[in-house]
Amino acid sequence: MRDRFANQPTFAKGSGGRYTDRVLADLAGMELGDLETFVESLGHKRFHAKQIYRWIWRRGVIDFAQMSDLSQGLRTALIDKATVSLPTITKRDVSQDGTQKFVLQLADGKQIEAVFIPDTPAQTFCVSTQVGCAMGCAFCLTGKMGLVRNLSAAEITAQVRLLAQSLDLLDKSFNIVLMGMGEPLHNYDATMKALRMLNEKEGLALHPKRVTLSTVGLVPMMDKLAGEELMPNLAVSLHAATEETRAAIVPSNKKYSMQDVIDACKRFPLAKRRRIMFEYVMLAGVNDSPQDARKLVKVLTGVKAKVNLLPLNAAPGIPFERPSDEVINTFAKILADKGLNVSVRKSRGRDIRAACGQLIVEGQGSKGARGATVPGVPEVPEVPSA
Ligand code: SF4
Repeated sequence: MRDRFANQPTFAKGSGGRYTDRVLADLAGMELGDLETFVESLGHKRFHAKQIYRWIWRRGVIDFAQMSDLSQGLRTALIDKATVSLPTITKRDVSQDGTQKFVLQLADGKQIEAVFIPDTPAQTFCVSTQVGCAMGCAFCLTGKMGLVRNLSAAEITAQVRLLAQSLDLLDKSFNIVLMGMGEPLHNYDATMKALRMLNEKEGLALHPKRVTLSTVGLVPMMDKLAGEELMPNLAVSLHAATEETRAAIVPSNKKYSMQDVIDACKRFPLAKRRRIMFEYVMLAGVNDSPQDARKLVKVLTGVKAKVNLLPLNAAPGIPFERPSDEVINTFAKILADKGLNVSVRKSRGRDIRAACGQLIVEGQGSKGARGATVPGVPEVPEVPSA
């Protein structure tokens, strides 16, 4: 039994700031059922797992000695055999607009970023699912890192615990967007396990409607997601209206064509009144012409869609420009006039490089232009995007 749970070696600081050379079970990556089995393996009743889960997830307590409704015997056993891993905040930047970017260090020294956006319209945490990203989108700084490694479910959910605790939001409602570093469907099992853990009613009880998963369009994984019990909102990074343009800026299009992705979207089960969000980063002279807008209307015919236009957040190393407000307005108006639900994303946190496509741990900062305003087209706050 010990081997099954002894998955957290070591020398990383665990619960209560202990350092140990023994292998400890990491409760941060356990679903409630696993935790029940673990508690039983320590010779205690399964129901104590719910108490422990509530301490960790609802109260943010990871020091077993402070879990005051547990018996002394169980607390001692936990101190001896378990830990609750938590990344360390190495940097926290606060934007003029209230957006906060957290740089988090993992147990192996790797770093990731998570972002808090205060009013979108609820509070939103933008969470990473990988260190770096293998997708290599041409306009994205994270893509330039390549994939370093996948995050575990413990590391994905720990971002939520850490941000909620740091911002005093553990008992408030908030949204999660899986739009930080990485492609969530490229780390499918850990991502789905993280969603189940966040949904656990003894923990944060986060309803899947409060979670948005953004994908570049990995078609087999989209089909797999379509069969899941816990179904997050789906956002698809489309970014172009023709196969040729999309293949030039979204390399995965060479494997899963835009038409394949659209077909998968048509198959994707949606509850009444729900739509798939199509994200479209606007790149001057690449995908921003009135013809592109008209082609996009055609591409999305028959799909329950809303379109989110993302004026590029220019950055050193990104070989594209942001279109003018006039170009963006014209593009949005063509979509809106054809009956598409369209919004233009207002950039958030650009002064701290927390904006869309700017998440990279060792990149350079940038300054950009204002968001566009289109009469009749809502401006929505931005979250960084996959
Ligand atoms: S836009 Fe998203 S999918 Fe593309 S490289 Fe960046 S993080 Fe990866």
